[in-house]
Amino acid sequence: MMKFAIEDKRSTSADRPSKMPLLFLGHGSPMNAIEENEFVQGFRACGKKLTTPKAILCISAHWETRGTWVTAMNHPRTIHDFGGFPKELYEVQYPAPGSPELAAETKELIHTTEIELDHQWGMDHGAWSVLKHLYPKADVPVIQMSLDFTKPAPYHYDLAKELAPLRERGILIVGSGNLVHNLGKVAWDKLNGAPYAYDWATEASERMKNLILDGDFQSLVQYDKQGTAFKLAIPTPEHFLPLLYILSLKDTQDPTVFFNDVPVGGSLSMTSVKLG
Ligand code: ZN
Repeated sequence: MMKFAIEDKRSTSADRPSKMPLLFLGHGSPMNAIEENEFVQGFRACGKKLTTPKAILCISAHWETRGTWVTAMNHPRTIHDFGGFPKELYEVQYPAPGSPELAAETKELIHTTEIELDHQWGMDHGAWSVLKHLYPKADVPVIQMSLDFTKPAPYHYDLAKELAPLRERGILIVGSGNLVHNLGKVAWDKLNGAPYAYDWATEASERMKNLILDGDFQSLVQYDKQGTAFKLAIPTPEHFLPLLYILSLKDTQDPTVFFNDVPVGGSLSMTSVKLG
């Protein structure tokens, strides 16, 4: 009897779609959407290694709301949510379809809070400027989930846990932000040269990566208690919080791979993480 039971279990799991990895993408400057550089190459290489997902759920630093929302329209517009860039960047369109079905499914999965369905937002550059390199054909449906700016870090970490079943259903969950992100301290003259980091940026970046590798996610959830380097690296939480969503969903057996692990302009890092 036991033998049959085990074999049954095996054949069932073989029929299931394999679990999708998790991504945190350091998006950096919106210009990465149209420039050819090592970061774009890193995103492209990452995309090529992935099985095509059924859809993408993206948590972007650039959509902060009161309450937690998911985009639920059929055709999210490409939002050019930045100022002072060349005309060419404003002409970029990323016409990936939305997925009202995935929005409804996500709303149903989450009990930490009442998820609201959004029909106004669309896709901001935190999502499209990187997803366009992973899926240049824009043929994978994308929904975004907002960051509730009224809530502390543990709320985001706990909420993310409830998204876990989506991985098994072929959904790629992507957090888009930057681990080190202090626009007020950018060394503008060094922005386009060789990789450059302030000492505090290097310290914060190394400690963040070690905490990720050690699985010490609680210290990252309590990023505001980690001293001066972290305070300078995370002056506001929105670019860091998307990382917590991804870490929260990591299973112990998921391997951790860093890519685009390069400092930019002293106070920014492009470090991206693939889990699973
Ligand atoms: Zn950004």
